[in-house]
Amino acid sequence: MAVGPLVVHVARLRRSLGTTERIKTSVALDAERLAPATPADSRVPEGAEADCDFVLESYSGGIMVTGVLRVPWSGQCRRCTAPVEGTLVISMKERYCDPPGRGEPEDEEAFPIVDEAIDLGPMVHEAILTELPLAPLCAEDCRGLCPYCGIDRNEQTCACVAPRDPRWASLDVLRSTS
Ligand SMILES: [Zn+2]
Ligand SMILES: [Zn+2]
Repeated sequence: MAVGPLVVHVARLRRSLGTTERIKTSVALDAERLAPATPADSRVPEGAEADCDFVLESYSGGIMVTGVLRVPWSGQCRRCTAPVEGTLVISMKERYCDPPGRGEPEDEEAFPIVDEAIDLGPMVHEAILTELPLAPLCAEDCRGLCPYCGIDRNEQTCACVAPRDPRWASLDVLRSTS
C-alpha cells in the first residue's frame, strides 16, 4: 500500500457511485520532482506547499478528481531578468482508474487506483510542471535590457541606437559635412 501525504483511500467512495469526498489540505512538495532544467527556469520556491482543494467523486470507471491547486512560483523576467513571482492557480480535472486487466478498458490518461487507494501526489506534481510559466514577464510592457549597453530600460535610458544599415553610411557622411 502506497503511503504519502496525498494518498486517499477510495473503497468507501466506490461502494456507491456518485459519492463525493472533499480533500482540502496543504502539502509539502517534492523539490526533486520539480527541479528546474536550467537555473533560469521558473520554479516552485524551496519548501513551498501546494494548497489543494479537490472533490473526489466515484463513477463507474473509477474516481474523478476536480478542484483547484494553488502553488507559489518564482522565476525571472524573460526581458529584463528581474525576479518575478506569483501564484499558480490550476484547475484540475483528472481520472483515476483501475489498472488494465480488471475488466475496464485501459485509459492511458488516467492515474492508477492501487489497492483501493489513489495517490494525488503525481497528479499535483505533473500539473505544476505543466503550468509553470516558461517565459514570464515582470510586466506586460517590460522594456527589457538594452542589447548594446545592458542597462535596464525600465529604470534608465541610454543613448544607444541600433547600428545603421551600412548602405546608408555614405548619406551620413554627406549630412555631417554639409
Ligand atoms: Zn522585465
Ligand atoms: Zn544602451
